[in-house]
Amino acid sequence: MEEKRSADVSFFGLGYVGLAGAVCFSTRGFEVSGVDIDRRKVRKLSRGIVPFYEPKLSELFTLSRRSGKLRIGSTYGRSLGARALFICVGPPSLKSGRADLSQVKSAAVAIGGVLRRESRYSLVVVRSTVPPGTTNGVVRRLIEKYSGKKLGEFGLCCSPEFLREGRAIDDTFLPDRLIIGECDKRSGDTLEALYKRFYGQNLPPTVRCAAVNAELAKHASNAFLATKISFINEIADLCEKAPGADVVEVADAIGMDKRIGRQFLNAGLGYGGSCLLKDARHLINFGNRVGVEMHLLKGVTSVNDDRPRRAVEAAERFLGNLSGRRVAILGLSFKPETDDVREAVPLRLIRILLRRNADVIAHDPVATANARQVLGNEIKFASSVRECLSGSDCCIVATEWPQFSKLRPSDFLLMRRPLIIDGRRIFEPRSFSGKFELISVGRSPSGSEDPERRLQSNHRKSGLPTSPPFL
Ligand code: NAD
Repeated sequence: MEEKRSADVSFFGLGYVGLAGAVCFSTRGFEVSGVDIDRRKVRKLSRGIVPFYEPKLSELFTLSRRSGKLRIGSTYGRSLGARALFICVGPPSLKSGRADLSQVKSAAVAIGGVLRRESRYSLVVVRSTVPPGTTNGVVRRLIEKYSGKKLGEFGLCCSPEFLREGRAIDDTFLPDRLIIGECDKRSGDTLEALYKRFYGQNLPPTVRCAAVNAELAKHASNAFLATKISFINEIADLCEKAPGADVVEVADAIGMDKRIGRQFLNAGLGYGGSCLLKDARHLINFGNRVGVEMHLLKGVTSVNDDRPRRAVEAAERFLGNLSGRRVAILGLSFKPETDDVREAVPLRLIRILLRRNADVIAHDPVATANARQVLGNEIKFASSVRECLSGSDCCIVATEWPQFSKLRPSDFLLMRRPLIIDGRRIFEPRSFSGKFELISVGRSPSGSEDPERRLQSNHRKSGLPTSPPFL
């Protein structure tokens, strides 16, 4: 059954981007319809349940539903009458590294069908991260074909999303900038007017440009962020070899340069998630197709690919063969404050450990259910940090959840061996020194003694039971 009341704006794809957008627009008084082809997701949403963890989203979603401003469904017809239609579906990757545009294309086809029944001008906005040329290319062609209308009779823009998972609501209400990539001037004017209505006095700095430049800007932004991370990770590797060096001090020092900035200079196990990796892959693939070799981005990606293996090798330096060793992983989500495990580094780390026949147990404050769907019963899942650490030979911090940073050396006394690999630089090395072997990414190891002997000596001082056969 289609709704009778027409929406001001419609969101197609109710994932992190689309649902956050739909909820924020309805909170600001817009009539919003949200459409997703995943019926299970729609059923949950219709019962008032947000199907993923995102701070503030559930509360605002409940308010939006109560106000009657947000209506959710799985049929495109409910977006009939909407002045603006936002495409927020994902292009995942094909095996070749090329963006899989099937979701975007099917949304464009369906929107074309909706526009065919419209008598008024409507604006379509591609919010998904799509390869350069997609909006004014295949999206436009499909909408024109299925609506029977030409650009001008409808509007079309690419306005890429820059929100960060874990801060999706704040970022939607207060982004650093808005990019309006327009296929024609009227489309850009219409979107700017809509944003002015949404943001009122607080309209963020707004860039108007050609759609292709908006698409390129989005990819280039993520490629640059990835570059900063891989850059500092390579500096971290140098620091580990320079006696007394610590990448955190180096990053603090270089980050004070306004031209550089401190953000994204956090050394660790590398980046994961659904955006940076995928977008770099798609940009490299786009470069290949147009005859531009993306040397730098390929290097960035290969530095990143190597990070989890380095943590495993650090554990091996102390424990030798990991077969049968209990390894506790703290964190499963690709970053804190989300349950998203898509391309998450902890999962890559776990796969390497499993290939070494390690006995892996992991804990995450919110991402366990999603990780279980991927890993099944290949590892054990602990419901608390205590359970995770208990009896383990090594602990690897894989996600920098704030609650992990609060752990004290005494919390690790449940381990069998005092070996902690701080893959996210959350611990102050001094508080662990002399008792635990704390390997911090990007900090040169203290002392030149043989690692196994040092571990044994620390074990005696740590207060851990002294009976394990290993020692
Ligand atoms: P997501 O996978 O969480 O959600 C996409 C949703 O689209 C899914 O619920 C899926 O069922 C639905 N869908 C697929 N095809 C559809 C169709 N034809 N019609 C209606 N619904 C359909 O994705 P996401 O993380 O929200 O990302 C969406 C886009 O935004 C991607 O292009 C992504 O790269 C980009 N982006 C994501 C983030 C982020 O942090 N997640 C940030 C910026 C940009």
